[in-house]
Amino acid sequence: MQKYAEAVCRSLAITIYGRSAAQHYFAAGERNMSEIANQPVLILLGPPGAGKGTQARRLEERFGLVQLSTGDLLRAAVAAGSPAGREAKAVMEAGGLVSDEIVLAILRERLSQPDVAGGVILDGFPRTTGQAEALDTLLAAEGRRVTGAISMEVDDAAMVARIAGRYTCAGCGEGYHDSFKQPKRAGICDACGGTEMKRRPDDTAETVAVRLEAYHSETAPLISYYAGQNLLHRVDAMGEIDAVTTDLISTIEGLRQPA
Ligand code: AMP
Repeated sequence: MQKYAEAVCRSLAITIYGRSAAQHYFAAGERNMSEIANQPVLILLGPPGAGKGTQARRLEERFGLVQLSTGDLLRAAVAAGSPAGREAKAVMEAGGLVSDEIVLAILRERLSQPDVAGGVILDGFPRTTGQAEALDTLLAAEGRRVTGAISMEVDDAAMVARIAGRYTCAGCGEGYHDSFKQPKRAGICDACGGTEMKRRPDDTAETVAVRLEAYHSETAPLISYYAGQNLLHRVDAMGEIDAVTTDLISTIEGLRQPA
């Protein structure tokens, strides 16, 4: 019976994802249907500046998962000048939250791509209770559920200083900071050698205040939402970047797959 179910699953995956992605996915028969239902869906919660993006990139490598940042997806939509991007642009520049409708449409599209089938780390999503409920529904339709939500705990006051000085390499996305983390050679990325650095237009002291307010009113309630489902884990994110990574790794390694 299990073999039959696996065969159906395999043929469905070929239909949905295409043959080569499905073959990769079922490589050497190592994965079975129950594994598919258990591909991790991890959520990083925390205010702007908590280090979600930096840490998600490290965890991505460590656990072979795909980082999925709705902020990055929205910035790409803005850069592409798509209708969703045009609508989101002013809201993002002011530090507000883009409508659930737009964010969910973008996320759904991204989640349907084959490269994320092995599991994801969600960074910056969900940000409202509506988004969290929509994610639960979306995953339930595939027999999946959120594996764990990790709250990265920080002080608001420190976040303003962190955000106002941060910038990234335009080539590879490596993060730097005017005071806390400068490249070893000025203006040259440690990771890829790139020389073009960029700052986000919404990383100003004024906009940070609005973004923190949006976090406390709209996103912080998700801490109780996931605690109520026994999925919440807390990590102190005020320490050194490496120390926070270590704590996140041990938290994730301690997570049990859902039954
Ligand atoms: P981030 O890169 O996560 O800091 O997001 C940058 C901006 O994109 C936020 O300040 C919001 O305007 C918008 N944004 C990103 N993710 C979401 C989301 N899940 N819901 C609503 N707005 C979002």
